[in-house]
Amino acid sequence: MKILGIESTAHTLGVSVIKFNGKTPDPDNTRVLSNVVEKYPSTEEGYIPRKLADHHAKLFRPTLDKALLQSKTNAGELNAIAYSQGPGIGHCLHAGYIAAKSLSEFLGVPLVPVNHAVAHVEVTRFFTRAQNPLVVYVSGGNSQIFALEEGKYRVFGETLDIGVGNLLDHVGRLLELEPPDAVGVIKMAAEGKKLLPLPYTVKGMSFAFSGMLTSLKKMNLRTKQEKADACLSAQETAFSMLVEAAERCLCHTRNPEVVLCGGNARNKRLQQMLSLMSQEQGARFCVAADEYNGDNAAMIAVTGLQMLCANVVPSNALPQQRIRIESQKIKW
Ligand code: MG
Repeated sequence: MKILGIESTAHTLGVSVIKFNGKTPDPDNTRVLSNVVEKYPSTEEGYIPRKLADHHAKLFRPTLDKALLQSKTNAGELNAIAYSQGPGIGHCLHAGYIAAKSLSEFLGVPLVPVNHAVAHVEVTRFFTRAQNPLVVYVSGGNSQIFALEEGKYRVFGETLDIGVGNLLDHVGRLLELEPPDAVGVIKMAAEGKKLLPLPYTVKGMSFAFSGMLTSLKKMNLRTKQEKADACLSAQETAFSMLVEAAERCLCHTRNPEVVLCGGNARNKRLQQMLSLMSQEQGARFCVAADEYNGDNAAMIAVTGLQMLCANVVPSNALPQQRIRIESQKIKW
């Protein structure tokens, strides 16, 4: 069977086709045939929801065509449409929903609403074969630490204000980097030489990042070296907080694996720090290839496939801006 995945929760529009041939999905019987991603460019004005939704609506047809062409698939061969139901930006979610709903009705195939956060975890568990991991999920809007408990994810710790990706994007804009986002921060951090004192806020297994931003704003950083030091400091301080909270949690849960996922999981420094901690705690460190960590539609298709095979497709397919990870039964 072939499944089409659609991702549109924030600034990324994605369309993917996967093929499955078997009874229980695993990396040997499931192949990603295409995983096309169209990103709205990051600008100094940040992301305006209406503009993001316009971008997704305008580019949906060419992106769909590209995903079908790359996977050598005719629309009539598709057996289900999986789409990202939330959490995310309302305008963007609706653009994806309308596309997915129209396609599923036109083709007469099921519409599978997929929790975006669950998909970030599941695509990593799927490809790394992690059975029972402690999950560190880091992206623009989310930063959470959780693990499976009685067939659902239980959140042990999370950001008390903004996501770590959002923090780094803000730092990029504040320091007017190129590009003005987390990518600019990572590039600039490589030239940093000293650590600036920044608020380090860990409360049990939760954490807060916005104090760092306020502190950086007050520093009035001007020279290139000052900015590089600020990037290095923001990165090191934020990641240390995440790793401390994750280690505290792991000592409590003793999961055999640690999964790092979400857009910021592509950061090599964070991978290094978390992998070292996992090793010291005797857990296997698991991270997916970069293409599956940034928002993408293959993760939606893979999770939709798991949900179909486990018979846990929710009846309400409408977009849900604030849906939590605990709402999805994990039966695979
Ligand atoms: Mg995401």
